[in-house]
Amino acid sequence: MTDVRNPATGEVVASVEAASLGEVDAAISRAAAAYERWRGVAPGDRARLLRRFAAVVDAHLEELARLEVRNSGHTIGNARWEAGNVRDVLDYYAGAPERLTGRQIPVPGGLDVTFHEPLGVVGVIVPWNFPMPIAAWGFAPALAAGNTVVLKPAELTPLTALRLAELAREAGLPEDVFTVLPGAGSVVGERFVTHPAVRKICFTGSTEVGTRIMAGCAAQVKRVTLELGGKSANLVFADADLERAAASAPYAVFDNAGQDCCARSRILVQRPVYDRFLELLEPAVRALRVEDPARESAEMGPLISAGQRDRVTGYVDGARVAFTGSCPPGPGWWYPPTVLLADAPTDRHWREEIFGPVVSVLPFDDEADAVRLANDTEYGLSGSVWTRDVGRAVRVVRAVESGNLSVNSHSSVRYWTPFGGMKRSGLGRELGPDALHAFTDVKNVFIATES
Ligand code: NAP
Ligand code: MG
Repeated sequence: MTDVRNPATGEVVASVEAASLGEVDAAISRAAAAYERWRGVAPGDRARLLRRFAAVVDAHLEELARLEVRNSGHTIGNARWEAGNVRDVLDYYAGAPERLTGRQIPVPGGLDVTFHEPLGVVGVIVPWNFPMPIAAWGFAPALAAGNTVVLKPAELTPLTALRLAELAREAGLPEDVFTVLPGAGSVVGERFVTHPAVRKICFTGSTEVGTRIMAGCAAQVKRVTLELGGKSANLVFADADLERAAASAPYAVFDNAGQDCCARSRILVQRPVYDRFLELLEPAVRALRVEDPARESAEMGPLISAGQRDRVTGYVDGARVAFTGSCPPGPGWWYPPTVLLADAPTDRHWREEIFGPVVSVLPFDDEADAVRLANDTEYGLSGSVWTRDVGRAVRVVRAVESGNLSVNSHSSVRYWTPFGGMKRSGLGRELGPDALHAFTDVKNVFIATES
């Protein structure tokens, strides 16, 4: 049994039984058997079941949100959005089974058609930072395409995934189509990678673990999607609406206490407006409401664990602190929003993903300098550009090596649009209209018409 704690108080909220290797193998075998039936369910019926699943999630939205507040320390506002996102992603991909069309390709001597065939059992491995949405971005399109799913939540945050599996059954999804298996990455996660009946891994987590998973998948040429770390840049040009850029910057990095792979954790400000930007940023950071995440007014909660807080502290110790916001005293794993001044792009806090409420600021000279500094990282997940010059906005977003960029906004993840990283931030894309292609293989069939 593993104790699950409330990060805002440190109290144990539940004890969860970790799946053993034998239980994982048995669950994968059942999922493989269920696949033979699930892939044969008519597209319209599969769609209806996913819509029902969405409706049941909607009916339990508040319960799921409150569970996430207790297990993950997310603010209640965020947690409601996250549960709603599960519903929306299910509804969106419920439209997919009936639209999963292939092509008819003109060839001599016959008819040529393509099919998008499901893969079999898909293994989804989820991190602790956004337990509900990240699970749904994997399981919803995977199920829609006709696969069955085994899902491993993070050890720290298994509660909402376990509840979602119950709600799936309540909605009428057949047994063993969607199975949640809590437990250790080194046991459950690794078995997904090595078990030959698992045909695809959909992994979100650290670049370090993702790299190992990709190597493990290579042994079986197993399909893999990786959503990994980030160190995204927020580029503020001198001609930008500075008030808006400064007012929004804290939310772009301190949301979810900075435990967000898309966090804009490097702010680059053009030199003529650098001082003014920091003057505007300071009151915005100080005003951030860091408090009990169950309160309706909370804008930021605690970090996920004591270990994560130690990690974050390690980056701030010895660095140049410009200013900080506030946070409650303990118990719980609280850390105040913190703004660091980088001395050079070689600073450790400028280069490494901190995954906490810490942002580093550095000035730049011109457009070329901004692009060079933004790209001077192994990561490439998201980023923002603030400018009133449309031409510059387009030039810069084309030049920054990153999968998800926004102009005069910090939006990253919308379920209608593709999401994923360049460079060491990941491989493949999730969400958007093409997500089912990541959970299917193309089959080409030629039918001779000549007698
Ligand atoms: P992590 O340590 O990589 O863990 C992610 C998941 O993988 C957990 O469920 C973990 O299980 C499991 N795991 C660990 N070792 C494994 C192994 N050898 N084989 C298979 N599975 C294994 O990441 P984390 O610390 O939970 O999350 C933080 C990281 O995730 C950050 O770097 C962040 O940038 C990244 N992230 C990326 C995205 C994105 O979309 N790009 C989104 C969110 C987070 P345990 O629970 O047992 O450790
Ligand atoms: Mg980890």
